[in-house]
Amino acid sequence: MNMDPVIPKLFGTSGIRGRIGKEITPALALMVGRAISKYLHVKGCKVVVGYDSRTSSVMMERAVTAGILQGGCNVLSLGMVPTPIVGYAVKKLGAKAGVMITASHNPSPDNGIKLWNPEGMAYRQEQERNIEKIIHEEDFNDASWQDIGKIEDVSPVVNNYINDLLDLINIKPGIKVVVDCANGAASYLSPIILRKAGCQVVALNAQPDGFFPGRNPEPSAANLQELMKVVKATGANLGIAHDGDADRMVAVDEGGKMADFDKLLALVAAEIGGCVVTTVDASACIDRCMAEVGGKVDRTKVGDVHVAEMIHDLDASFGGEPSGTWIHPQFCMCPDGILSAMRVIELVQNKGPLSRLLDDIPSYPTIREKIDCQEEQKKTIMEKAEKELYLLFEDVLNVNLQDGVRISFKDGSWVLVRPSGTESFIRITLEAKTVQKAHMMRDHAAKFIEELL
Ligand code: MG
Repeated sequence: MNMDPVIPKLFGTSGIRGRIGKEITPALALMVGRAISKYLHVKGCKVVVGYDSRTSSVMMERAVTAGILQGGCNVLSLGMVPTPIVGYAVKKLGAKAGVMITASHNPSPDNGIKLWNPEGMAYRQEQERNIEKIIHEEDFNDASWQDIGKIEDVSPVVNNYINDLLDLINIKPGIKVVVDCANGAASYLSPIILRKAGCQVVALNAQPDGFFPGRNPEPSAANLQELMKVVKATGANLGIAHDGDADRMVAVDEGGKMADFDKLLALVAAEIGGCVVTTVDASACIDRCMAEVGGKVDRTKVGDVHVAEMIHDLDASFGGEPSGTWIHPQFCMCPDGILSAMRVIELVQNKGPLSRLLDDIPSYPTIREKIDCQEEQKKTIMEKAEKELYLLFEDVLNVNLQDGVRISFKDGSWVLVRPSGTESFIRITLEAKTVQKAHMMRDHAAKFIEELL
């Protein structure tokens, strides 16, 4: 039988990510660098490289840089920057690709590599497969000594980024904001930009440190207790927290309470209007908010790459995941936690306070559950769910099979059954108009799965 060899996957849902010294090594970074140069074909073309605040990031950046040079492309070096600046710089400087060394919100011992297109958008899956194939087959095309690439320091482009952001967002002086940078890549930048925009800024964890001494870089409620206290104690209008590489942000209201992720996304989406993109696991409150302003919501698979692709394909005005990874296509196709923060601040200044804006969005009872399921059973269960799950319910409006099975109902309720990509679970997520309906939907979906186990 003639079968294609199985090429091992390096890229997950958000680039290559793992533990330093195990999955992630300078040797791997060198090969990724050589593979990028090969993939781009043209010797001498430009590749932007940036890195976050991790202890391993400089080592990884030097290795990927060496690989790109070895392959004959030139490196435009940004130094330590938030991920969105890599996306921005690729487009601004006319580079053919971008590389960011980061593990986003993962703990200190991890790192990763994420790749960017000329339009500042994350690599699509097919492009990642091409890089994997080159590495697997060791099909490099290294330059001879005359054609080895060169490095150029392009860190001043950060000033362009700052000025372009300040041109785009109109914040008036006076609003007080606490910003928690997690000792990550935005540590110097986010507080400076917010100050330049006119905010009165209290900065927390705003010195880069790969040990993340202030807090874990995942911006979850458990990790943001200090931010919540400081917002309340200082009488600030709101708090902002970034993840390790600042492509994300979450907000805390003036009372020190974490803003509901779905409601915050819906609020900003409705403010921007038009056609917006979100993922299958996002609450229907975004549909309700968009309907009020005459806008439209399209849904795609979970993952910021998918959101970016759909924004691109539909020419949408905005898109995001409830996690706080939001893309503002009029600025860049890369999720941007600093720009997202500025949008929220602008909105709170014009229409706030934030707690009231969020309270005005009606919320439905929500259930999130996971059912243990072995990897080998996932496929059979999901195939059956695609065909039969909706038959258990009445008043079904439509069935979306992009990523798991998402059934929406005529009254605005919905249920999503989706296998976890990383763990041995099938997740049930749902939102229903009443508590009774929520329990009924949960029971139907759980019984359907359990009977197949
Ligand atoms: Mg991130």
